Amino acid sequence: MSTTQHSGEPLVHAVNVTKSFHGNQVLKGIDMDVHPGEVVCLLGPSGSGKTTFLRCINQLESIDGGRIWVDGDLMGYADRGGTLHHLTDKQIAAQRREIGMVFQRFNLFPHKTALENIMEAPIQVKGEKKAAVRERALALLEQVGLKDKPSAYPAQLSGGQQQRVAIARALAMEPKLMLFDEPTSALDPELVGEVLKVMRQLAKDGMTMIVVTHEMSFAREVADRVVFMDGGVVVEQGPPNEVISNPQHARTKSFLSRMR
Ligand code: ADP
Repeated sequence: MSTTQHSGEPLVHAVNVTKSFHGNQVLKGIDMDVHPGEVVCLLGPSGSGKTTFLRCINQLESIDGGRIWVDGDLMGYADRGGTLHHLTDKQIAAQRREIGMVFQRFNLFPHKTALENIMEAPIQVKGEKKAAVRERALALLEQVGLKDKPSAYPAQLSGGQQQRVAIARALAMEPKLMLFDEPTSALDPELVGEVLKVMRQLAKDGMTMIVVTHEMSFAREVADRVVFMDGGVVVEQGPPNEVISNPQHARTKSFLSRMR
């Protein structure tokens, strides 16, 4: 599925996004649209800016130039004169509520059970009623295959189970968009499959997802579109069976040959 076939507004609309760290420009003008229900995998060598771009989408990093809209709301931006316009903390918090993020490391609260971890944000951030949140959290535990683990503490769970709790925790906020930053790269190989299975089902259920991953078989099977980044630019993008099976650019070819 290519972007040109979509009608309606993109959920994520990024235009000419730039970002530097200490004079080192790591995003050199990224344009990207992601439409509702679309699954986009970001591929590329380490250091190409994939994680930074993901973090810019939910304002964990502020951008230096360009614009990012999420669901029609403008995130921070720079104007033509280079003046930065950042949102207030309150505006950022409101926008982040719409976006779930799953990191490489799961960062669960160690002193809270799986169920309490999932219930935390809807109660604390959204002020929802505990009973309703509890019901939703139990359903989410079932969705990620951990129906029998509500009372388990993170230390009692495997890495794969913890990552599935982290996905359920993000979903508890009922986000419009899910961002995954190499969600399986910290896991032992035998635990990768159980996390990808949950993500695959989420994609099937219609969640809009942007996934930074090195899991080529996942990208091939689940992504509507893969975006290959290198050196802070988008080098090539398209349906996985085109980009992964038949890359056009030398940099994509070289990267993919190293992945196989
Ligand atoms: P990728 O996800 O493709 O591996 P990253 O977005 O993590 O790439 O990193 C891109 C570049 O930005 C790297 O050179 C990295 O060292 C640098 N970088 C990322 N975050 C920071 C930071 N907070 N401070 C300084 N440099 C950073």
